[in-house]
Amino acid sequence: MAHPKTEQTLVIVKPDGIQRALIGEIIGRYERLGLKLVALKMLVPTEAMIEGHYLLDPNWKKNVGTKAIESYTKKGEKPPSSDPIEVANLVVERLKRYMTSGPVIAMVWEGAHAVELVRKITGGTEPRSASIGTIRGDFVVDSYQMADSDNRAIRNLIHASGSVAEATMEIPHWFASGEITNYRVPHEATLYDSDIKSILG
Ligand code: GDP
Ligand code: MG
Repeated sequence: MAHPKTEQTLVIVKPDGIQRALIGEIIGRYERLGLKLVALKMLVPTEAMIEGHYLLDPNWKKNVGTKAIESYTKKGEKPPSSDPIEVANLVVERLKRYMTSGPVIAMVWEGAHAVELVRKITGGTEPRSASIGTIRGDFVVDSYQMADSDNRAIRNLIHASGSVAEATMEIPHWFASGEITNYRVPHEATLYDSDIKSILG
């Protein structure tokens, strides 16, 4: 099995993250944790790229549709449909509009438990309920309530792979293998070598 330090995850700074001038802040959060940036590019995604991205996982529609119906019901509101797939189709249409509205920055971050730790720092999907100290909790105000009533996707600054399996599908969707760089940084020795040595002069 590959060493955990080689785990990779996909992060996308969404159009609102770029417009809010939060690129440096977002990159800095992952960088200071000790993760290593191994790929980065700016692009304006096509609708096909966004649809393809969200449909990589065949269960995504059912999961997101079910989650959305639950959150409508919890708020005492009627979901737009009782069929999770139909609700998910609506979410995908909104995501396509949002994600193709301007440039995004796609990145691959590498390091131990990269997928889990990037999600932890990024925070929950809905900024309103995302924890304090997370990027979505600290830098943006959106809610499902507002997004749904304005018929748009929730503006939450970032996409981050939700599991190792998701990352494994998402990274090749955004990057050719030649666009991912294999290199070392000195602090990896302090993070990962089995002994810390050669410090005292
Ligand atoms: P993420 O991995 O935290 O971005 O969340 P998901 O993969 O579950 O969802 C992706 C996107 O679908 C989110 O950024 C939202 O735009 C949308 N979405 C997810 N869950 C819901 C929901 O319960 N209600 C609505 N209206 N949109 C949702
Ligand atoms: Mg997700």
